Amino acid sequence: MEDDRTGKPKIASNILFKPDRVFDGETLHEGWGVLVKGEKIEAVGPAANLRSAEADVIDLKGMTLLPGLIEGHSHLLLHPYNETTWDDQVLKEPRAYRIARATVHARNTLRAGFTTVRDLGTEGADYDDVGLKQAIDQGIIPGPRMIVATRALIATGSYAPKGFSPDVDVPQGAEEADGHDRLIQAVRRQIGKGADVIKVYADYRWGLMSEARPTFTLDELKLIVEVARSSGRPTVAHATTVEGMRRAILAGCETIEHGDGGTPEIFALMKEHATALCPTVAAGDATSQYRGWKKGVEPEPERIRNKRISFKQALEAGVKICFGGDVGVFAHGDNARELEMLVDYGMKPLEALRSATSVNADVFHLTDRGRIRPGLLADLVAVEGDPTKSIGAIRKVRMVVKSGEIIKP
Ligand SMILES: [Zn+2]
Repeated sequence: MEDDRTGKPKIASNILFKPDRVFDGETLHEGWGVLVKGEKIEAVGPAANLRSAEADVIDLKGMTLLPGLIEGHSHLLLHPYNETTWDDQVLKEPRAYRIARATVHARNTLRAGFTTVRDLGTEGADYDDVGLKQAIDQGIIPGPRMIVATRALIATGSYAPKGFSPDVDVPQGAEEADGHDRLIQAVRRQIGKGADVIKVYADYRWGLMSEARPTFTLDELKLIVEVARSSGRPTVAHATTVEGMRRAILAGCETIEHGDGGTPEIFALMKEHATALCPTVAAGDATSQYRGWKKGVEPEPERIRNKRISFKQALEAGVKICFGGDVGVFAHGDNARELEMLVDYGMKPLEALRSATSVNADVFHLTDRGRIRPGLLADLVAVEGDPTKSIGAIRKVRMVVKSGEIIKP
């Protein structure tokens, strides 16, 4: 029997999954299986010990079963910049068009094994992430569970399509707000309309030289964090400069997005304050190629070489690394690109997989997922081969389970 609205198969009450091995979010276990009851994980352990009397058994020979992956930095309302520039997406695309695209992005994300996304800003599409999340949660369209940031916060004049006459007011990429009262109002308004997390741009390219410079003052950032925190919500910061990162860390932002210009001193400060880094290496790699770099043929541009160095410094400082690629800059469903690049840039496959599961769950305060443990949500992905040995196996998705429902058989 099928649910006629979504076409999804009916939930079986008990399913015993028998892969070759289980990555539980922290460690790999050969010969383990997972018993799912309804929408939760009932038991996990050596397959021979799991009682299967009343369960449908699904054999996953040759496969590894992992927790549903958690994308830490997505923009479901953007599509790749080599298709349409960011400026044109913000300025020229009708909202209905952007939402129609986003429904496809959501489906592709889920089918790639990503059962949760932290979606960090609608980029000019107001609160459309809130409605998208509702449609997914109600089973109207397939997609990942969403943590949404809604519009995100920017200092006036900093994050907008560039190159226009100062006499013209163009739409911004996020909500402009400055100073004590207006910032408090903006944070509360975003929360009231559905924000699960507050995102700020602590620096951005602006002004005559078009180089990244800090935007909000330290006091403004502290105020944003305080107001968000009093409602139980974290604040996260886009920051690529030393000073932007420093202010965001000291203000209490929980994750730094990008962090390209980080130094050993800044990463030591992140470690001290337990601020996590979401390095988004795939986005820089993608935009460099959009600008003409022929990867694999030409030497790496300076930006990429510097990113390799700063990422290594972050690892050496022991900074917690989130997995998040800034997907939307590149194609939704191609989220694994960031996992491959984290490994290319110096993480072990097992560490990168921890980032995409248990580490992201911990950093994003998601206590109901990110690991394969009794009582947690039955969000699972099965891939051909062993991605802890060769990360490329993470692309060979053979089955996705969300809330105990098999989405991709
Ligand atoms: Zn982003």
